Amino acid sequence: MKSIKFLLLLLITITACQTPDSPKQEWAIALHGGAGNMDKAKFSEADIKNYEVALQDALELGKKALTEGQSAIDVVELVVRKLEDNPLFNAGKGSVFTNDGRNELDAAIMDGSNLNAGAVAGVGDIRNPVSAARLVMEKSPHVLLIGKGASLYASQNGIELVDSSYFYTEKRWQLLQRSLQKAGKNGTVGCVALDKNGNLAAATSTGGMNNKRYGRVGDVPIIGAGTYANNNTCAVSATGHGEYYIRYTVAHDISALIEYKGLSLNEAARNVVNGKLSNEAGNGGIIAVDKNGNITLEMNSTGMFRGWANSTGDEGVAIFK
Ligand code: ASP
Repeated sequence: MKSIKFLLLLLITITACQTPDSPKQEWAIALHGGAGNMDKAKFSEADIKNYEVALQDALELGKKALTEGQSAIDVVELVVRKLEDNPLFNAGKGSVFTNDGRNELDAAIMDGSNLNAGAVAGVGDIRNPVSAARLVMEKSPHVLLIGKGASLYASQNGIELVDSSYFYTEKRWQLLQRSLQKAGKNGTVGCVALDKNGNLAAATSTGGMNNKRYGRVGDVPIIGAGTYANNNTCAVSATGHGEYYIRYTVAHDISALIEYKGLSLNEAARNVVNGKLSNEAGNGGIIAVDKNGNITLEMNSTGMFRGWANSTGDEGVAIFK
């Protein structure tokens, strides 16, 4: 009789602890290739296909690595490098130009297991800025290195430098010529991941805003603005009008709503992206994954290049809202 009672109690306890609507994922990943107000009519079928293939390829790379048991920090770097190498996106090859015709790239990476972070800003000759950000995180006593100092440190530590002409693409050059009067055009890339050991990580990389002022730094390399990860809450990578993301510390705000107010990832992301951010011109979106593997892809724009996958098989890529 005693043992039956004990078993019953055990059963009740187990049932009470389960959250049947959100099973914990072994791993989860989300990525983005920028957000903005996109008019579907302006995209050709071929354009859409190209973006979908690029997103899917990057997603497959991340899925495979997570399934094999690679760490979240390795995976977000791997995926962002792949997106940086693709000229379709405004990061690495294909970055936008400053108003005086330069490429100035920003990137950041954060490890949610120990709150270590690294970033580079305003670099013009590092092929994969996300790897330089990781170098700063792991090898230097600093969080953020800028410009020539970042490049020198990267080259001294075996990171590949390229001639600044490597970043040139005709499409981005024409974009600058068309819009020398105004700022805009997104295409930043980012990735967030939960690995099999329960560790979270985030990475973001960008050419910044088209037609930005020479010397301008956006939200991406500012930890807590465009990039943030904390094993106790979530990992976030943002894209949009960086000045607002800095002022509203968007990525950390989402984490803080979970940590201090007990909000779900979805609620927290919606509160920030479709709350205070959308009340301003903070047009854009975020991708995030929490410690249970829940994924959120929240935007206040009409589109965000995005992809997601988890260990129970929910996955996809999408562009428009
Ligand atoms: N957030 C980036 C920046 O302001 C741009 C973007 O995401 O498109 O530099």
